[in-house]
Amino acid sequence: MWFCEPADLSPVCPPLAGKILFEYRWYGPPAPATAGPVPNPQSSGRGDPKPMKIHEYQAKEILAKYGVAVPRGEVANTLEEASTIARKLFAEGASGVVVKAQIHAGGRGKGGGVKVARTREEAELYAQQILGMTLVTHQTGPQGQKVQRLLIEETASIDRELYLGIVLDRVTGKLVFMASQAGGMEIEVVAAKTPEAIFKESIDPAIGLGSWQARKLAFALGLKPTQISAAVAFFQSLYKAYIETDASLVEINPFITAKDDKLFALDAKITFDDNAIFRHPELKVLRDTAEEDPLEVEASKYALNYIKLDGSIACMVNGAGLAMATMDIIQYAGGSPANFLDVGGSATQDQIEHAFEILLSDANVKAILINIFGGILRVDRLATGVVAAARNLKISVPIVLRLEGTNVNEGRRILKESGLNFQVGETMKEAAELVVRAASSY
Ligand code: GDP
Ligand code: MN
Repeated sequence: MWFCEPADLSPVCPPLAGKILFEYRWYGPPAPATAGPVPNPQSSGRGDPKPMKIHEYQAKEILAKYGVAVPRGEVANTLEEASTIARKLFAEGASGVVVKAQIHAGGRGKGGGVKVARTREEAELYAQQILGMTLVTHQTGPQGQKVQRLLIEETASIDRELYLGIVLDRVTGKLVFMASQAGGMEIEVVAAKTPEAIFKESIDPAIGLGSWQARKLAFALGLKPTQISAAVAFFQSLYKAYIETDASLVEINPFITAKDDKLFALDAKITFDDNAIFRHPELKVLRDTAEEDPLEVEASKYALNYIKLDGSIACMVNGAGLAMATMDIIQYAGGSPANFLDVGGSATQDQIEHAFEILLSDANVKAILINIFGGILRVDRLATGVVAAARNLKISVPIVLRLEGTNVNEGRRILKESGLNFQVGETMKEAAELVVRAASSY
């Protein structure tokens, strides 16, 4: 469970909420930012601070292994592959195929990234249109995401579009299985406008998803009596997949009933808990860095916990809790953080230089706040690293530091004697005010 200290600062960090929690924002009790994954203070600081995302086709392959019914289909990286798969599906008796953009974001249907074809020629045409396009959805941001893979799948004759999801409720510490008749649309909107349309079953970890709970949900979805036992098996398979893969989210939207009454996962989204990914080498290889922010990929090479945000003040901090508090106090001072960067407890000069490079590659950055509490990372060592990096990289944006802890006086002396233009704040509050002023006049 995440908590944010010191206590007089808001535990809710608005910049992170927008960036990382968009898919969970709607869920749970009033404080929304506590309901989703945030960088884990217990993690070594060496891992990826975000849950690991995978593509729909990968999620479906995993779910199929657990007995979850998914439409027949395969991934295509080229137009030739797309054509071959479509030909095969039609030859095997499909009445149509759906061509689906594979990107790490939802809302593809509305953005033109999901198209149903009745013939192979039509499928080829759609594949041509979608492969390589920049798909913009409500989850990609306005810059969109380039489509580099397609999923070619047999179409289903949809009767009803429903919703299923499993997430961790951080308040009760239990998983919650959710189901709704309002499938196929943005569940965030459903949750905000008609929360009563989402049915929830809280799962006791010692028991797992009880069959009575699965039945309750199946009835709440208005499934036919003949569909109930298949639905119960479906839900329990989903739950088993969640547990055994150490997922942080499993979402099926839409979960459909077909005209012949069969049940299918028409879409599938799984994210994994990054703190458990070391237990799953077979899942770790599913990471697709082409889908991730290039700066974040770069940072992960140097074991830096970096998340890009939209503001103008770059932060360099040691420790995830301090990073959260720093972002909060920047907001309180009237600024907005450009990133979350945790250099970890034992950062080397090399890491600090790379951290600077990453911060400076963000064109929005107008000032840098370095907020370090020297423990294992001694303040004099940090100061040496900062001075070296500032010289090597010819940093021109203003740098404000707030330093405390082991060898702090030595650290301050190194900064002063460098002759470079650093500003030092005595307290976090003062440093935040200094950096906000520096950014607005840069
Ligand atoms: P998303 O928009 O990124 O969530 O992508 P989805 O996989 O959920 O697809 C969006 C919508 O396309 C679904 O809600 C369906 O209405 C439609 N769709 C997807 N697959 C099929 C299919 O096989 N047949 C039909 N008729 N519609 C489909
Ligand atoms: Mn969907």
